[in-house]
Amino acid sequence: MARKFFVGGNWKCNGTTEEVKKIIAVLNEGQVPPPDAVEVVVSPPFVFLPLVKSSLKPQFHVAAQNCWVKKGGAFTGEISAEMIVSLDIPWVILGHSERRLLLNESNEFVGDKVAYALGQGLKVIACVGETLEQREAGKTLDVVAAQTKAIAERVSSWENIVLAYEPVWAIGTGKVATPAQAQEVHHELRKWLHDNVSPEVAASTRIIYGGSVSGGNCKELATQPDVDGFLVGGASLKPEFIDIIKSSE
Ligand code: PGA
Repeated sequence: MARKFFVGGNWKCNGTTEEVKKIIAVLNEGQVPPPDAVEVVVSPPFVFLPLVKSSLKPQFHVAAQNCWVKKGGAFTGEISAEMIVSLDIPWVILGHSERRLLLNESNEFVGDKVAYALGQGLKVIACVGETLEQREAGKTLDVVAAQTKAIAERVSSWENIVLAYEPVWAIGTGKVATPAQAQEVHHELRKWLHDNVSPEVAASTRIIYGGSVSGGNCKELATQPDVDGFLVGGASLKPEFIDIIKSSE
């Protein structure tokens, strides 16, 4: 089954209105492959979602960076899935390692969020990945399998999920996984889906790589058979994001 190449831009907690307008201009002017060849989703901070959605050319889609685990209400400072849907924003990133590690989001909590967001009609970029300590202890596959299992146990369909493998040691460090390291984990994640969800879900789910992806390293990573795209942090704020969008060409 063909898996359309997917490139996400995670802007994290960056940007002022003026800076966001500059990024939008770069994206709108960039020469990129047609939407049937690559799906592009950028994820600005919540406050810029309406501006980004209304200014980006229609080929680019928009994601929120998080949402609350259940229906909105008395949860000061949180943003509900319903609110994101009401802004006509189709995607949300959940389970990013910065939230897992800095805000103590557990596998179960992330799984609950994924299930709730899907139930509200959002599509989800669900992130998994091991720390350096876990990798050095030989636990990489156990860690990403447990993170994926907590999602799989709570959802009935994978149709609207993109799985992002983001090794924590590669995020924002400039220390990108080698193509072989990325391929190994992506292959194992696909095998996990095959054995624990279904062969169809394994064949159709896009597994994207994140962690120090740049204009310089994206092409080789994109040649790996189980790498179906990227989730890009730092480089998604720069003109080289256009090169990353073109990396599957
Ligand atoms: P990075 O971040 O590209 O800056 O390493 C990736 C991510 O956290 O999604």
